[in-house]
Amino acid sequence: MKKNKVGMLGASGRMGQEILLCLEGQTKFEAFLGWSNQKEETGYKHSVTKLEPDLVDKVDIWLDFSTPEALMSALPKIGRSKKPIISGTTGMSEIQMKKLNSLSTSAPVMWSSNMSLGIAVLMKTIENLNLISHFDFQIEETHHKLKKDRPSGTALSLQKKLQKVVKKNLPPAVSMRGGGVVGVHKIWAYGTEETLCFEHTALQRQVFARGAIWAAERLLKKQNGFYVFGDLLK
Ligand code: NAD
Repeated sequence: MKKNKVGMLGASGRMGQEILLCLEGQTKFEAFLGWSNQKEETGYKHSVTKLEPDLVDKVDIWLDFSTPEALMSALPKIGRSKKPIISGTTGMSEIQMKKLNSLSTSAPVMWSSNMSLGIAVLMKTIENLNLISHFDFQIEETHHKLKKDRPSGTALSLQKKLQKVVKKNLPPAVSMRGGGVVGVHKIWAYGTEETLCFEHTALQRQVFARGAIWAAERLLKKQNGFYVFGDLLK
């Protein structure tokens, strides 16, 4: 069976390397092109700091875990390949999201701030909180000290959804940074006589890498358009 060639944006990073581990032994995907701004070998078949057409045109699907600036600089080059794109990069502005979205007219594009199954289920579970919309809500997140964005993209996605469900503005998410914490998100609901808390803990970064590859398999079968992780669960 022909393997789909993966083009990885952010190949030398924590997620780029987790994805590389997940791709080892895969029957459907091949770690083909690793792009980053680091000169060292990334472990992908071709490690590059420039996206040249001869390799770009061979890629079957793009995975992106880089930075908003890096992704924006790559979009014009990878856009011309009209191949599916999965992005997990967080901290993007509305304009940057629109630029990513604009590619969805010529390819299936999926963006998600969190590629774990647990957070996808939590997103759906939040819908029940309309039953206690009079409670006070607070989102809390903890991540490793090297994480660049604050609050996390997942906290922002949870907040956006929760505000829509309970139809009110909520206080900004509380963010903590330290050590090597992969990712913890909590949604607190405070009533006067009871308290409810949903918690998701990512135990290993692998969960996001596996989720991205799971999503890649599904996105390859989708028509052009913009998708979020939850759309692929259906
Ligand atoms: P990292 O800092 O370890 O890696 C970033 C990568 O981007 C590196 O390979 C770096 O060389 C590359 N890069 C940075 N600037 C560049 C530039 N100008 N040109 C080319 N390459 C450049 O970060 P990470 O922990 O791997 O996370 C990457 C992104 O993924 C972050 O936005 C993070 O929040 C997000 N993330 C998302 C999920 C999810 O499930 N959606 C999970 C984990 C991390």
